[in-house]
Amino acid sequence: MSLDKLSSLARHELAQLNFPPANWVPPSSGPDGRPLLDALVVGGGMCGQTAAFALMREGVRNIRCLDREPRGREGPWATYARMEILRSPKHLTGPDLGVAALTYRAWHEAKYGLDHWEKLHKIARLDWAAYLLWVRDTAGIPVENDVEVVSLNLKKEFIEVKTTTSSFHAKKVVLALGREGSGALRWPEFETFNPDNRGARVFHSADDIDFKALKGKRVGILGAGSSAFDNAGEALEAGAAEVTMFARRPQLPQVNKSKWTAFAGFQHGYAALDDASRWRFYTYIFSEQVPPPYESVLRCEKNKGFSIRFSEGWKDIEEDDELRITTSKARYIFDAVIVCTGFDVNLMDRPEITTFRDVIDTWRSHISTEEAEKFPEEARFPYLGDAFQLQGKAGGLQRVHVFNWGCTLSHGALAGDIPGIEIGANRLAQGIARDLFLEDADLHYRKLLAHNEDELKPTQYFVSLSSRRPA
Ligand SMILES: Cc1cc2nc3c(=O)[nH]c(=O)nc-3n(C[C@H](O)[C@H](O)[C@H](O)COP(=O)(O)OP(=O)(O)OC[C@H]3O[C@@H](n4cnc5c(N)ncnc54)[C@H](O)[C@@H]3O)c2cc1C
Repeated sequence: MSLDKLSSLARHELAQLNFPPANWVPPSSGPDGRPLLDALVVGGGMCGQTAAFALMREGVRNIRCLDREPRGREGPWATYARMEILRSPKHLTGPDLGVAALTYRAWHEAKYGLDHWEKLHKIARLDWAAYLLWVRDTAGIPVENDVEVVSLNLKKEFIEVKTTTSSFHAKKVVLALGREGSGALRWPEFETFNPDNRGARVFHSADDIDFKALKGKRVGILGAGSSAFDNAGEALEAGAAEVTMFARRPQLPQVNKSKWTAFAGFQHGYAALDDASRWRFYTYIFSEQVPPPYESVLRCEKNKGFSIRFSEGWKDIEEDDELRITTSKARYIFDAVIVCTGFDVNLMDRPEITTFRDVIDTWRSHISTEEAEKFPEEARFPYLGDAFQLQGKAGGLQRVHVFNWGCTLSHGALAGDIPGIEIGANRLAQGIARDLFLEDADLHYRKLLAHNEDELKPTQYFVSLSSRRPA
């Protein structure tokens, strides 16, 4: 089956599922008299588009989904992700929301054939990026590109939204800002180096890096996680003469504990655990860290310029004529360095939420001081409600739903990795549908009273409204 035929089949299946159902949320106006948006999804990456899709499936249709990047540049897949293949197994589902013709497998079979699928080891990264765009187009998910949400201002009855192109009001906002959207790029503490003043030879793994320029160069990599190996592999394949990786740990992490959580019991049940149990699960999972995929390690190992120095963290980076790295054991000179230490989950760092960040409830107030000191990053995760809503004393906070990695301590990885996304998006959309209904409950009651569909009109038992007697 060609991709065109698959698109038609998927649209037909969606129609069979009565998608998209009619919008049921009563229209309302904002303070400026213009129509209020029912939900704004900020971010049109994998989580944002799946959230918007799930909202449409719940009949919440007065929505917008905005992404600051151009089409195809949303999220890591076609930008700073540098692995050749996804880490996850090829059978995973999620962005399809349970529609068979929208699964990755259906897309792959249509594009490359069943035989190719059967022989496939893991999904190629750029195929995944192309697949996500195809799901978006086929299901008609309305992502608007090149629009950045600049600020959100909470009011009791709505949220004021400012974007780079306009201002408007929304009843609900979903923050689907991605991994870095829970906070900022993570830079370790150095003795003198300040990442804000870094020169052109020091990169973070999330930067746009011209790897061709590293041909024949000596490259230092800090970190030994997945992205460290992906960046090392990319540099080696671009012809870097030498790539030296540095890890504080004496060996690589061996087991991906979060892979264990990808089953329905955990995904449905985790959020219902008490705080102490949730804290115990995820502080353990995070502290075990994640091994790099073996494919990424082998990709580096096959180049003779590659080496790893264990138990050797960096103390400082100095840049003048030379680029010098001081470690706990020695000094090294490189032509370029890439810091691969991931993202710091600190929602409070996000410019979009400056106006209310101080009133957001975090895990810190749900654990002991000792635990908060032991796990400072985890303590900064937002403490979310049952549909990913922010909690705290300020009115309107519950209008903001965090649908990215920042939800992990409260809900598990339901808005971070692919395997949890379907359960997460449905939970989010159903919670928003509930809240929107509750907000208009009196209006809905009046609509119920006014509801007068003459079911029996074609029969002899039909009684006109004025002649009906109470039961
Ligand atoms: C390198 C890498 C590899 C990964 N590989 C895997 C894997 O193999 N398997 C797996 O399950 N998971 C993987 N993940 C984890 C996860 O699946 C991805 O991070 C995924 O992209 C998460 O989707 P998202 O929508 O949350 O974030 P993103 O895809 O990052 O999307 C967030 C979007 O928000 C937009 N945005 C941010 N701020 C604003 C704003 N103010 N206004 C408008 N738009 C804004 C950004 O432009 C971006 O497009 C990987 C993650 C990384 C970083």
